[in-house]
Amino acid sequence: MNQRDCIFCGISQGEITSNKIFEDDQAFAILDISPKAPEHVLVIPHIHVGDLINASLPEFQAARHCFEIAPQIAKSRGLGLSGYRLVTNQGADSGQEVPHFHLHILGGRKLQGMG
Ligand code: AMP
Ligand code: ZN
Repeated sequence: MNQRDCIFCGISQGEITSNKIFEDDQAFAILDISPKAPEHVLVIPHIHVGDLINASLPEFQAARHCFEIAPQIAKSRGLGLSGYRLVTNQGADSGQEVPHFHLHILGGRKLQGMG
């Protein structure tokens, strides 16, 4: 399931270093290298999920797991009471940079409206 030249597959395999703050058998969480908020965490499935439009059942399950663990990861970063935003980008119009499904957890300050 490892995709050549995919940054997040490389991090999953330990080939690319990262600031990993959580890991289990299905997913891991790292600090974003270019944070857009005081807290900016990425929750990423180990398997390469290219997108959810053409996803297989195992890929959907891996993505679902990311949603399941995100609240506890947010809480572990101190965002349990103050709140946070979950974002997932899909495709060119969203500005998606890395074509391996992931959730952004953003928080630590009052966030701007969506746009
Ligand atoms: P997206 O635009 O939704 O694909 O988000 C990709 C995110 O990955 C961006 O916020 C980048 O700053 C972040 N990113 C890219 N490379 C790395 C890396 N090596 N370690 C941590 N975060 C990264
Ligand atoms: Zn990948």
